Amino acid sequence: MADRLVGEGPRQGVTNAHRSHAEALDAADPLAEHRAAFVFTDEAIYLDGNSLGRLPKATADRLTSAIRNEWGGGLVRSWPRWIGLPTDVGDRLGRAFLGAAPGQVIVCDSTTVNLYKLGAAALARQCGPVVVDASEFPTDRYVFEGLAASAGVEVRSADDETALDGASLVVRSLVDYRTAQLRDLEAETARIHEAGALVLWDLSHAVASVRIELDRAGADMAVGCTYKHLSAGPGAPAFIYIREDLQPQLRQPIWGWFGQRDQFAMGPEYDPEPGIAQMMTGTPDVLGLLALRTSIDVLGLAGIDALHAKAVALGDLAIFLADVWLAPLGFVLGSPRSGAFRGSHVALRHRDALRMCKALVAEGVVPDFRGPDMVRIGFGAASTRFVDVWDGLNRLRRIAEDGTYRNFDDLPGRVT
Ligand SMILES: *Cc1c(COP(=O)(O)O)cnc(C)c1O
Repeated sequence: MADRLVGEGPRQGVTNAHRSHAEALDAADPLAEHRAAFVFTDEAIYLDGNSLGRLPKATADRLTSAIRNEWGGGLVRSWPRWIGLPTDVGDRLGRAFLGAAPGQVIVCDSTTVNLYKLGAAALARQCGPVVVDASEFPTDRYVFEGLAASAGVEVRSADDETALDGASLVVRSLVDYRTAQLRDLEAETARIHEAGALVLWDLSHAVASVRIELDRAGADMAVGCTYKHLSAGPGAPAFIYIREDLQPQLRQPIWGWFGQRDQFAMGPEYDPEPGIAQMMTGTPDVLGLLALRTSIDVLGLAGIDALHAKAVALGDLAIFLADVWLAPLGFVLGSPRSGAFRGSHVALRHRDALRMCKALVAEGVVPDFRGPDMVRIGFGAASTRFVDVWDGLNRLRRIAEDGTYRNFDDLPGRVT
């Protein structure tokens, strides 16, 4: 971990565990008014903004109109207004949340598929060992195990001292999905480049949560989800970034007609678009793109620095309360204590975490569970209040104290 502080937010000076303190933080919150931009249908305390971001009201309106008028009314005549969405929304995302100049970001497919496309392209350019840490998100590990097996190269875990020696590619999350640990984009990129490898950043838990400056860091490639902090909805398309000068050196493995130059000429052979557009495969998810365009506008109004500062402050409150209330009950902090090294969630570890999560959901508090022993408390900085954190953790304290969680089994569900 580099010693430079990344995204240090204003300290909120958490000083006591009274609810009035959380109320005072809400009263002083510069993002408080942004909460009204989101849909709330019940009193549930939602602490899982890092899994599925809350629906913006403007998105519900935009999609209703697109479904009725553009799809229902315009039908195929609407394609001229839809066809440019993957690059248009990519450029907007790049400007608002990725620190990327136009022409380097495209929105298409899922993060998993995009990892595959970029990984295959990078290995075709330079074949050699791939570094993916054993703690990485499963899909990242699986995709690169598969790619490495077909390319006949080794997969190394990042904690191995010599992992970078002779490596061709390093795949790394900017914010760890379990611990929320925030890495130093610029320093890590430089270190990987010094070793002669390319870096592929997974920004799934980082985008719209922490400030990202891909161009400034000299990053090579990136991918990320849009349904988490970006609030574009379940299954909304993911994004790809490729630094401009690297684009001509990479050819993606899925030769689809949407990556084709002069697509509607229906030419006999694959002749890819120059630039980022060659990363397209087939017909884009128009509704997902419209949802993403809308939520970029909604969250862009809050601004990334304010969003990150508030997430850090929410996390500081959660950690303070966990120290006072939950540590005596056997909980251990599973995230960096310093907000400078933390994304927008806080992990609390406990042997009975799964039962506790089930008991919380039954009480109208929605966190999530990550095995084997983590309760994740995730924030949507534009919509989560300090009192939500206070109320949620207070209920967790009660459940842990009175043992009601023992009424729940610890069998994993279909979705956790
Ligand atoms: C959420 C997440 C994914 C999910 O990928 P999908 O293809 O959208 O299912 C991948 N990687 C990381 C690091 C994630 O946090």
